[in-house]
Amino acid sequence: MEMERGLEERLVRYAAVDTQSDEASPSAPSTERQLVLQRMLREELVGIGAAQVRLTDYGAVIATVPGTVPGAPTIALLAHVDTAPQFAAAGVKPVVHRRYDGGAIGFPDAPELRLSPVESPYLAERVGDDIVTASGGTLLGADDKAGVAIIMAVAEHLLRNPGIAHGPVRIAFTPDEEIGRGVHPDLPADLAAPVGYTLDGADRGEICYESFSADKAVVTVKGVSIHPGWAKGKLVNALHLAAKIVDTLPQATRTPETTGGREGFIHLYEMAGSAAEATLHFILRDFELDGLAGHGALLAQVAAAVAATEPRASVEVAITPQYRNMRYWLETDMRPVELARAACRDTGVEPCSEPIRGGTDGSRLTEMGVPCPNLFTGMQMIHGPLEWVSVQDMAASARMVLRLVELWGREGA
Ligand SMILES: [Zn+2]
Repeated sequence: MEMERGLEERLVRYAAVDTQSDEASPSAPSTERQLVLQRMLREELVGIGAAQVRLTDYGAVIATVPGTVPGAPTIALLAHVDTAPQFAAAGVKPVVHRRYDGGAIGFPDAPELRLSPVESPYLAERVGDDIVTASGGTLLGADDKAGVAIIMAVAEHLLRNPGIAHGPVRIAFTPDEEIGRGVHPDLPADLAAPVGYTLDGADRGEICYESFSADKAVVTVKGVSIHPGWAKGKLVNALHLAAKIVDTLPQATRTPETTGGREGFIHLYEMAGSAAEATLHFILRDFELDGLAGHGALLAQVAAAVAATEPRASVEVAITPQYRNMRYWLETDMRPVELARAACRDTGVEPCSEPIRGGTDGSRLTEMGVPCPNLFTGMQMIHGPLEWVSVQDMAASARMVLRLVELWGREGA
């Protein structure tokens, strides 16, 4: 129970600090407010006796729990401190609902809101648990302060119990994950660990080692601009050509709203421009590289076909890589996943692995040479007012991570 109360206390305290990131900001970290929590975490890490505690110039807090056995490999544990820009995150007032009874949970600041197994079926599995929600006007920020709380609890437990045999544990709290900038180029070197885990997953038992592979595509259409009064035979309207491209692309297949499971998509998420010039912004997603290349090829083909109807226009397609499925690296050495599965089973949790239709900091880190599966924290209904987490799920995660650290401690022996 001590573990549960400690986790709850930390989550409630961290969630109350506004740490929303901002995609429009060019700085690193993107918002000053993230540093408020980072400085708190730095102080707390020093307070519990962690070594090499520092706040980097790009806004990450990094620390070490020294190993207790020689020769054991170093592992890194990561969580992000920022919360999603998509929903109100200032003035979060966490509410703890003790021993959840299976009914509807109300929100003091939004009487019309309700959370029950109808909205979130997983809640039915957590009857009897202590459930933490926000108060109605904001998100909770369990994504990823549940992960931060779990890592802090694990670090404190290890530092208080030097009898536990383990290698060095590197801790990293990163900013700006929600805006896709969580992995600074210096992070892998600063971590100095051959393997890591993000604590940023959902349901109890979830161990994720598959993410999308992701490209971004920008189509730029240049027409011929001229005063409309004198335009006959001369104007080439970039907006008409852009609309043709959109209309020719698949709409009943290969879009986010028509795909699921292992299917990929081409997603138009922004279009802008004038008769003179228009731009279309796409994200391309697939679990396989040939599938991803196929989405890019189709987009290029459609753009070329539309361009061919108007030789005076120019249509350019620029495709840039974003991140890659971490499975490509992990399947060559499944040890990090296998040990996480063993740690789950040893602590009475059945592990499961579903591919995530998105990316994590771990996708980038894995690609940069630090294999980094994602582990469950309990967070649910993230990025909105119904966000919730079970304290007992967080405790199950912390016990599993403690076991995982011990299992890695035997690897060097
Ligand atoms: Zn997250």
